[in-house]
Amino acid sequence: MRRRDFFSLASSALGASTMARGAGRASPGDAFVENAPGCALLFDLRSKRMLIAHGAVQASEWLASPGSTVKPLSLWALLRAGRVKPDESIPCPHQLRLAGLSMDCSHPRLPFPVNIARAISYSCNCTTAQFAKRFVGDELAQFYLRLGFESTTQLLQRNEAAGHVQKGISGERLQLQALGERGVRVTALEVAKAYRHMATLVHDPEFQPILEGMEGAVQFGTGRAAQVAGKTVAGKTGSVQTERGLHAAWFAGFAPSRDPEVVVTVLTQGRSGAEAAAPIAGELFRRYFLGES
Ligand SMILES: [Zn+2]
Repeated sequence: MRRRDFFSLASSALGASTMARGAGRASPGDAFVENAPGCALLFDLRSKRMLIAHGAVQASEWLASPGSTVKPLSLWALLRAGRVKPDESIPCPHQLRLAGLSMDCSHPRLPFPVNIARAISYSCNCTTAQFAKRFVGDELAQFYLRLGFESTTQLLQRNEAAGHVQKGISGERLQLQALGERGVRVTALEVAKAYRHMATLVHDPEFQPILEGMEGAVQFGTGRAAQVAGKTVAGKTGSVQTERGLHAAWFAGFAPSRDPEVVVTVLTQGRSGAEAAAPIAGELFRRYFLGES
């Protein structure tokens, strides 16, 4: 698809089959996105418009735990509250059990201690959970609420559900909430809105460890499949199992990382964000930046 076609497509009505209809010719990527039960969103920060909305119904109505897509957010909450220093690091013990759930890290053994940026790049559960012990009272829940995790987003012109954030929790349940595993359920639109907010912070010196962490996640972490040639993507995957046993795979991010133009959010059924969601995100980034069909 030529870039001109992309933008004429972008101005057409939103809907699950918008891209496939407008593109005129199908590609293997189309089939992958079209057939996947889920949603894929591309939001243009300059025009403040959703350019691509595959699965608008799912994006608006599905509620899922956000998993590790909230690590940059919960660590940002700790950083800006001064509860963790940017250069503070702790070794990752790799094994973690919280409130009966196995939350062992899936990254390779690391020969160095883990700071905030590395906790995001390597998606380190142990370090994030350890830092999350420092939240005071309902600080994290209030932060999630300010991000809009219980509010409709108005990013699509349609009815949408609002997420839910558990309040008044502490200890291991609070740690799980900081990992996005329990105690917080959101729509893909709400995650898109939270990442849109982070995209406004890229020039804030205090935000740099979070930004570097998200760049690392795409350069050498679980988000590698979301890379696009010539642009640096900042993002994060998530992999969660719903209470009904379904596997949900996430990717959320923006690019270019230092001068963001678009936010991409993917939520689909799949065992891992790395394998199921990041490739779809990469496809959307390449469509936008390279005009690839
Ligand atoms: Zn770890």
